[in-house]
Amino acid sequence: MAFFDMFKKRPAQPAEPQAPAAQAPAAQPAGEERAGALDAGLEKTKTGLFSKLARAVAGRTTVDADVLDDLEEVLITSDVGVETTVAIIRRIEQRVARDKYMSTAELRRILREEIAALLEEAHSAEGSFGLDAREGEPYVVMVVGVNGAGKTTTIGKLAAQLTRMGRKVWIGAADTFRAAAIDQLGVWADRAGATMIRQEMGSDPASVAFDTLSSARANGADVVLIDTAGRLHNKIGLMNELTKIRNVMQKVIPGAPHEVMLVLDGSTGQNAFEQAKQFTEATQVTSLAITKLDGTAKGGVVVGISDRFRIPVRYIGIGEGVDDLRIFDRKEFVNALFGDEKN
Ligand code: GDP
Ligand code: GDP
Ligand code: MG
Repeated sequence: MAFFDMFKKRPAQPAEPQAPAAQAPAAQPAGEERAGALDAGLEKTKTGLFSKLARAVAGRTTVDADVLDDLEEVLITSDVGVETTVAIIRRIEQRVARDKYMSTAELRRILREEIAALLEEAHSAEGSFGLDAREGEPYVVMVVGVNGAGKTTTIGKLAAQLTRMGRKVWIGAADTFRAAAIDQLGVWADRAGATMIRQEMGSDPASVAFDTLSSARANGADVVLIDTAGRLHNKIGLMNELTKIRNVMQKVIPGAPHEVMLVLDGSTGQNAFEQAKQFTEATQVTSLAITKLDGTAKGGVVVGISDRFRIPVRYIGIGEGVDDLRIFDRKEFVNALFGDEKN
């Protein structure tokens, strides 16, 4: 079963025909309410981007080299990242060269189009992720990222959304480094109605993963979410620990983990890029969750990180509440930043 299918309600009767793949998972708030919260969550990024953009084009009528220079600075200071900024500027330059005359009034629309196109390209591998779990086996997600990125919170929100949809969720407390981390996860698990498997603080994370998968399998769980410690001394240490956890998982469920989700704190801007680099070098990361986009003007990281790493952004975090974890939708994201297409 593909991961997104987890968000569908279980059929009332097993024989009921499967509905075609739903686009928007029902676990999430619908319609205007949903869009409104996303707008609010990305407000600072939007305001920052457009006030800078307005300054860059002030007093100019056509998009010339000077405007492009300023636009480059706007994008870099919005945490889109240097490489992606250069790519966007190059594309706009080509359009300017082709169209000869381009007014600054059009710049916002063009920027929107280029960012939308870039996000689409970056997510073109989307169809291939969410490797199908073997029928009857739990779908295992290993969650990685540095300390404070939002791993535990993201697991808690995800567990709550999934159990609400009738899924049986098992959580593994494999961040055994601090007792408080295990307790924090326990609070989320209780609230979500998920089963948490834990050991003593300081025990081997791989051993916790083993216990969790064994229990999940024996109890017919649908999803397993494994929390891990972000506090590691160096890349080799990180690689060794994650590899060990993965190897142990495979002993219990071949093919597990089906997904390795890297959680990045979006409000750290360029640091998030650095973390993505470290973790992708240490292990095979298959999806991203970018948290704390509320209250930061650094939402441009979503664009830059998708482009640079070509790993699909699965979720974005826009607050601390259960519903503030959203499945990332490129179109919604662009609409929240630039306004709806018609505007
Ligand atoms: P971990 O160390 O990676 O497990 O990180 P935690 O899940 O403990 O999160 C660290 C802090 O970030 C906590 O105070 C969370 O409430 C907060 N946090 C996580 N996600 C978000 C988010 O999307 N928005 C906001 N505002 N805070 C978040
Ligand atoms: P120190 O720098 O060697 O003093 O290490 P710490 O005081 O930070 O950690 C003490 C012990 O915990 C060491 O044996 C580390 O190998 C281990 N340790 C540190 N970070 C982690 C982690 O993220 N996960 C796990 N499993 N062990 C860790
Ligand atoms: Mg944690």
